[in-house]
Amino acid sequence: MSCVFCGSSPVTKEHVFPQWLNQYLPPGRQQTEQARYGAGAYDVTRQSMGLDFTVKKVCAPCNNGWMSKLETSSKDVLEPLIIRQDLDLVSLQQQRQIALWATKTAMMADQVQQEPLLPSHQLRRMRTHQAIPRGTRVWLGSCPARNPTVTSHTVRIDLTGVSTPDSPQPVGFFCPMKIGHLCIYVYFPAVDVVIQHAPEFRLSVARIWPRRSSELPFPPPVQPRNGEAFEAFADAFRQSLYLYTPEQAAEHGLKES
Ligand SMILES: [Zn+2]
Repeated sequence: MSCVFCGSSPVTKEHVFPQWLNQYLPPGRQQTEQARYGAGAYDVTRQSMGLDFTVKKVCAPCNNGWMSKLETSSKDVLEPLIIRQDLDLVSLQQQRQIALWATKTAMMADQVQQEPLLPSHQLRRMRTHQAIPRGTRVWLGSCPARNPTVTSHTVRIDLTGVSTPDSPQPVGFFCPMKIGHLCIYVYFPAVDVVIQHAPEFRLSVARIWPRRSSELPFPPPVQPRNGEAFEAFADAFRQSLYLYTPEQAAEHGLKES
């Protein structure tokens, strides 16, 4: 096994959710970490003390080098949104940093899957250029309940109705995560799509990637009330994503929402 980000070996254990998040856990509190996949894949749900969901697919130089730097440079931006719900404006630079961190974390969650979806060149470009793969969408939301501190699941999605000759079995990968108050939804479609979602979600989630053109007032006015509601909300949001090929979108004059 060689490192998914740089190709070196040996690999060591890397946490899907970084250890600095442990400081927000209530003392001694059990955490449920789960990965949930679509038909034909497998489920992982387990109780743990703290956040120790790991994958053994990253080398020590990546782990202690660029990944550690990315955690350090993201923490100051993420922390206020994790621990408080004060109304604030999230700057464009902060939005980019959150999107980058969320993408890296979702990439790690993808590596927990038996067959990770993201191609290796995208992981390598994350390391070398801190590049968010083309097509990645990241939305932000918030939840008034700070606990559970981290809840996340991943879902592989068939892009029903969207298919190209290059991609006979198109799938996407959806990774919602609730970290304290902060809710982040990352979606990697495996093919080019234009996405619209149902209007009722517009007061609950705001897209921060691809890049917006303005600061974002945060938190949004409508929020899932607790961790369980977040899970249900994340599923409903995923099901409301309407995907169109660029050709279909052009034909119907549809723009991404
Ligand atoms: Zn590496």
